[in-house]
Amino acid sequence: MSDGKDTELADALAEVGRKVGQTITDLLARIRPAFDAIAEAANRPDVRAVRERAEQVVRRRPCLCFCLRAHPDDRGICEALDAVVTGRSKAEMLRDFDFDVPLCAPCAAARAARQFAE
Ligand SMILES: [Zn+2]
Ligand SMILES: [Zn+2]
Repeated sequence: MSDGKDTELADALAEVGRKVGQTITDLLARIRPAFDAIAEAANRPDVRAVRERAEQVVRRRPCLCFCLRAHPDDRGICEALDAVVTGRSKAEMLRDFDFDVPLCAPCAAARAARQFAE
């Protein structure tokens, strides 16, 4: 009796597994052309240039200066994706908590000038 149930369960599981496998196979077959198109496009020189540019941007450190607060007089100077120095920033929500943030050169200069003026 229990043997029969186990077999039933095994059959049911096998059927589910077969259906899932078939679904995945179908899905792969359906998205395969899209993958091929992407792979093909990725080798085109113009696409490769865009990708390399994106990788460059990713490699760069973003400037995490809160320009509007840190130097409101010079808010347009930020080179947002070209952080070259690390400055200290004070989180206003966490009083007395300083942390290092990457800053771009113009922001660092503006912050220093502002600090000096204060
Ligand atoms: Zn800034
Ligand atoms: Zn900046």
